[in-house]
Amino acid sequence: MNFNELDLSQELLRAVDELGFTEMTEIQQQSIPILLKGTDVVGRSNTGTGKTAAFGIPAVESITPNDKGKAVVLILCPTRELAMQAAEEIRKFSKYKEGVKVSAVYGGASIEKQIHELKRGANIIIGTPGRVMDHIRRHTLRPETLRTIILDEADEMLNMGFREDIETILSDVPENRQTVLFSATMPPEIMAITEKYQHEPVQVKIKSSQRTVELIEQFYFEVAMGRKTDALRLLLAAYAPSSAMVFCNTKAMVDQLTEELVKHGFRAAGLHGDMKQMQRTQVMNSFKNKTAEILVATDVAARGIDVSGVDAVFNYDLPQDNEYYIHRIGRTGRAGRTGTAYTLISGRRQLFDLRAIEKYIHAEIREMPLPDKSDIVAMKKESLLKEVAELEAGHNGYDILDRLAAMGIDYREASARLLTRQLNAETAALPDFENARPLRKGKKGGAKTVRVDISIGRSKRIAPNFILGALVDATGMSGKDFGKIDIYDDHTTVEVPEAEYEYIIDSTNPMKINGHQVEVKLFKGKPQTGFSGRKRPDNKPSFDRKKRAYSGRKKSELFSDYIPDRKKRTKKRH
Ligand code: ADP
Ligand code: MG
Repeated sequence: MNFNELDLSQELLRAVDELGFTEMTEIQQQSIPILLKGTDVVGRSNTGTGKTAAFGIPAVESITPNDKGKAVVLILCPTRELAMQAAEEIRKFSKYKEGVKVSAVYGGASIEKQIHELKRGANIIIGTPGRVMDHIRRHTLRPETLRTIILDEADEMLNMGFREDIETILSDVPENRQTVLFSATMPPEIMAITEKYQHEPVQVKIKSSQRTVELIEQFYFEVAMGRKTDALRLLLAAYAPSSAMVFCNTKAMVDQLTEELVKHGFRAAGLHGDMKQMQRTQVMNSFKNKTAEILVATDVAARGIDVSGVDAVFNYDLPQDNEYYIHRIGRTGRAGRTGTAYTLISGRRQLFDLRAIEKYIHAEIREMPLPDKSDIVAMKKESLLKEVAELEAGHNGYDILDRLAAMGIDYREASARLLTRQLNAETAALPDFENARPLRKGKKGGAKTVRVDISIGRSKRIAPNFILGALVDATGMSGKDFGKIDIYDDHTTVEVPEAEYEYIIDSTNPMKINGHQVEVKLFKGKPQTGFSGRKRPDNKPSFDRKKRAYSGRKKSELFSDYIPDRKKRTKKRH
């Protein structure tokens, strides 16, 4: 369906046409007609599906000459980038419509300038929740006159802690308003807001994600704990994408990884929410003009930017939400081009999470072995071969070759030396990958172990099975993977495979045992001996946990001690 089939004013159609839009996207087709009628809408749709126009066009169309000087539409966005971007696009829609004033308000920019703009009679205000609240408090934005309120990327706003602000704003706006909510995911918190603040909303759901996903080849690599950075360096070297996005879950990881990549000669740049606006613009520009080939970003930062069609997407961390996975990989393979997405996983928990993503997206993510150095050398040889074959003739070189030949170094030898030098230069910085593949656990009893320390002990009436249950639950590992459990008065040590300890510490902070918040860290002390009488005589590490846990006590005794309701049941049976 085309835009000109909609009942839109000539002014708007002209602006839309100028933007090069002819056919509507799915979300636009489904929501624009409803929104034009003033009905509430709750829309679920992914990034890049054209939501800004979906709500922006009806917003612009709703402004009448009577609205001069009044705030009529309020659009809330999670970040200032998104607010700026939406404002820019909506301004374009309003280009030919007289008397429509669009204003963006967001933190980190002069409030005076924004006050000035609002006072000059902005009709459509686009802002981040915090700054919008600020303007309402200062009475520079009067919610009484608002007729439409739009929440863009509602889930992201909640993730960023804007719930209270959003609810305050929603309760300040007159009740007979139109309320529109767009979100990529629909967690219960969003449903609650919908129920509380929307009036018989029409649901619009777009399943465009599947289509994108099918075009993208997806692979995963299993990597040993703590070796993801090395693995990524290897993959970047092997595939040499001319543009790639790497996703991490935290700002700290973005910084650390970017630094690591740059240190090893990759042209990488990081992007996250803590960066100043200027820095972010710089990073985006460098990526767009290809000075940086690799953009390392968090999900939130990546949402605010208009990047698509990258050669490859790497998930350094698994996304925290399945829907994010689709967003991430959607950055590659746009517009019918096939793209590739690579995911790095460490540990069983992540493998489970990956399987869950596979189910969610109804697509296969295939395992691929990490290439090793010799694979990469072979790949580089291939590309060097192609490169040289395509080089222009270089007459200057003959002179040098002739002189070398006079020195006894023939053409063949000279060329080989140069090619080898180039090959070495391209592969010298590769990390050593002997043990980057995950250690297979349980094959041999001889796997190295360390101990982790858990900040809870006998004084909290803790039993080994509590500890083990909590560990299995938090890590997704099998009970067999944990060794000896030693319970002291105020702490407990657990023997774990060395290759897994970082992962275990990662996935157990935070963790609760029997209602108590505990901290898990690497145990640095010597193995203690003065403890509750369940010490192994030889004090050797052992994976025979059950024997350890129950030795010296009968099972019923253990349970009756520590699990009150189990005790009752036991009693009844007797
Ligand atoms: P979303 O908010 O869903 O992530 P955007 O509104 O930012 O998506 O739109 C993504 C891109 O698609 C923008 O560059 C926008 O200009 C473009 N776009 C939106 N609608 C259309 C359309 N009907 N035809 C062509 N391009 C469109
Ligand atoms: Mg958007």
